[in-house]
Amino acid sequence: MPKVLDGAAIAAAIKTEVAEEVRALAARGIKPGLAAVLVGHVPASEIYVRSKVQACADLGLYSDLITPPDTVTTEEMLALVAELNARDDVDGILIQLPLPKQVDAKALLDAVDPAKDVDGFHPVNAGRLLAGRPALAPCTPAGVIEILKRSGIPIAGQHAVVVGRSDIVGKPVAMLLLHQNATVTICHSKTRDLPTITKQADILVAAIGRPGFITADMVTPGATLIDVGINRITTREEFDRFFKGNEKREAAFAKRGSVVVGDIDPKAFEISGAYTPVPGGVGLLTIAMLMANTVRAARMRRGL
Ligand code: NDP
Repeated sequence: MPKVLDGAAIAAAIKTEVAEEVRALAARGIKPGLAAVLVGHVPASEIYVRSKVQACADLGLYSDLITPPDTVTTEEMLALVAELNARDDVDGILIQLPLPKQVDAKALLDAVDPAKDVDGFHPVNAGRLLAGRPALAPCTPAGVIEILKRSGIPIAGQHAVVVGRSDIVGKPVAMLLLHQNATVTICHSKTRDLPTITKQADILVAAIGRPGFITADMVTPGATLIDVGINRITTREEFDRFFKGNEKREAAFAKRGSVVVGDIDPKAFEISGAYTPVPGGVGLLTIAMLMANTVRAARMRRGL
């Protein structure tokens, strides 16, 4: 039977550790703070940011939710970032993506003080990560490493195949795996004969954004499957492709009209050695790692 890598349990353990650190810092008069910037009314973003602010409250961090209207300009956002960079009660700045079209997202992310870049998206932190220097690493990739380590899955010497090369997931997760001494192959949409490569993986990380893209015939039995993908499916045809006969999912689909599936076909999980479910896997680590990064930023900024 494959081992289910339980994102909820691992996230809870990390949050407990973070709360302990927050208590230790409180004894020294320090309260780590996160500023969350949520532009306009994107429903998914509102849910994510609310969860992040709630996590701050649960773990004893200070948080400030700033909600500019969706008509905000790049200049106004840059002014806001400058203000947050200067604020002493803010250790971490989170700008929830996506941003409205008129806002230059890259200019904005580049304007965040790298010391407060708890999403790890700033080129300075990307460079530090590449160079193996202390850096604020992007939360989801850092979560992938935590899942592997805390589940006792060996990384050193293993062949890790990462499908996806985005700046926020694929590239940083590949770099973090390399730092853990995996042999890393990065694949993308121009990769020739992808199944031949994915079949060589001891650890396969899928960060593609296409529902169930990695099928069972692309995986070697016994491999560890890490599914970063979050895709909402809404049609009966897609539902049946992945979840036909699954009563629990059927009930969820009937109730909400949609269910979430990862980038790995659930049938591939059945032949794996271990896998992260969707939902309930990698996604749950992202907020825990954001909290950990905020506390880390608070310590680093004070030279602790
Ligand atoms: P991007 O769209 O930025 O990147 C997707 C990557 O997949 C690209 O590198 C692309 O290649 C590659 N790709 C697309 N099609 C193929 C193909 N046919 N064969 C091989 N590679 C392909 O997505 P993200 O990295 O931002 O996100 C990936 C997934 O992870 C999404 O489902 C997203 O929702 C999820 N996600 C989950 C998070 C979490 O908290 N769990 C956080 C962030 C993302 P190319 O570069 O050549 O175009």
